[in-house]
Amino acid sequence: MKHTYAGVTTELEDRVCPHCNTPLEPWVAPPQSGWGVILVCNNNDCPHYDGSDDDITNKRDDSNLGCRYAENPDNGYKPFNLLAVCR
Ligand SMILES: [Zn+2]
Repeated sequence: MKHTYAGVTTELEDRVCPHCNTPLEPWVAPPQSGWGVILVCNNNDCPHYDGSDDDITNKRDDSNLGCRYAENPDNGYKPFNLLAVCR
């Protein structure tokens, strides 16, 4: 897929989440994160996301944080956990 942001077009591989087979969507990370465009699984029913509550140490019950599956194209599509707020 091609992703255009701020006039710059990036060629991204078509990737799917290995946990739920949902196509990953490009997401522009906040500048302070040091990432460019990353690919994120936005499926709220993703087993990786669903089960991530227990993985966060010191998580407060009311914090509604979860980890989405994500890959970083700038880093050889290396998978990582994107901390996200559940709605
Ligand atoms: Zn997924």
